[in-house]
Amino acid sequence: MIRINENYTKLKASYLFSDIARRVNTFAAAHPGQPVIRLGIGDVTEPLPPVCVEALHAASDEMGQRATFKGYGPEQGYAFLREAIAQHDFAARGCAIDPDEIFVSDGAKCDCGNIQEIFAHDLRLAIPDPVYPVYVDTNVMAGRTGPNVDGRYEGITYLDCTPANGYIPAIPTAASDLIYLCFPNNPTGAVATKAQLAAWVDYARRHRAIILFDAAYESFIRDPRIPHSIYEIDGAREVAIEFRSFSKTAGFTGTRCAFTVIPKSLKAWDAAGHEHSLHAMWNRRHTTKFNGVAYPIQRAAAAIYTDAGRQQTRALTSFYLENAALIRKAMLQLGFTCSGGDNAPYIWVNVGRDSWEFFDLLLNRAQVVCTPGAGFGKCGEGHVRISAFNSRDNVVAALERIAQALK
Ligand SMILES: *Cc1c(COP(=O)(O)O)cnc(C)c1O
Repeated sequence: MIRINENYTKLKASYLFSDIARRVNTFAAAHPGQPVIRLGIGDVTEPLPPVCVEALHAASDEMGQRATFKGYGPEQGYAFLREAIAQHDFAARGCAIDPDEIFVSDGAKCDCGNIQEIFAHDLRLAIPDPVYPVYVDTNVMAGRTGPNVDGRYEGITYLDCTPANGYIPAIPTAASDLIYLCFPNNPTGAVATKAQLAAWVDYARRHRAIILFDAAYESFIRDPRIPHSIYEIDGAREVAIEFRSFSKTAGFTGTRCAFTVIPKSLKAWDAAGHEHSLHAMWNRRHTTKFNGVAYPIQRAAAAIYTDAGRQQTRALTSFYLENAALIRKAMLQLGFTCSGGDNAPYIWVNVGRDSWEFFDLLLNRAQVVCTPGAGFGKCGEGHVRISAFNSRDNVVAALERIAQALK
């Protein structure tokens, strides 16, 4: 008899987006003349930058010619893309990352979900709350946690992100082995300073731990004091893996391209105390289970590192940041405190009441959809996430309606 991986039965079903859809559909059916504006989405709305579209066309033509056709490429990604990444994302910021420490993939979601399989089963996990659910759920599936009790899994050290700590979690007093961090943060929009990241790197070095650093929103940073990469911190090459994605940077959510950085200096140990290279292990995993990103997609990704590409992606992220600034200003004017929106496309609003109650209020009185914070973890209660991924017209109209409704 075939049996299942029973760890899957521990997963707390995520009703967040289906609950939102149900409430929005019910409202829409009852009020057909009142169009709803969705500021709840974590997906981009603007089309691909022209440089990417041109590169896609040119690479598709190459695929149609015998002389330039490509079959399987290197699993880790083509050298032209890895070299462009190493130069523009790392060397330009003073980080020593070699092109062959970069693994190109079809998504940061897959990579930050899959990375846990190269680590031991009985590690001590430290994961922020509120959080992007992938970090938690993939460890539950792998059997690293106990059951979910009152909204939290046994066996995880939760790093509380609250108004009191400015949504930057404190360093735990106890030891951990695998630490998940995400800056700029989804959902809180918080960013970490060099000193705050340096404290995490120091903690990881003391405990011989690994930090998994999700920098999917790095391209939204505008404050020059905020680090874009964890490798801007001394010593991070010994303790950190970084995830990046073209999804939010260049509108690739439907195009699919991302990368993970695993320095060759990263070590981890077996039960007998022998040292192993995480780069070698991930290379083994990646080449066994992945066959590379499509050539035209890698060409489109490389195009963002040209002068025109950098201008176009900067304009794209700036457009969303202008939306974010409008949302942030409107929320502050209504008397709420919020984080994010200045170096991130999300505004995390402290609504001071039940997050679903506030969701219903905005939906019913303003016909605007936000994301209730409770869906991202216990510490998300009392907050909602408002996304800047939308047209300017929709953002402006939504903010007018919210101001009317909450007057
Ligand atoms: C959107 C997002 C990603 C990117 O995922 P892709 O699979 O590359 O599209 C990664 N991490 C977080 C926190 C995100 O919100």
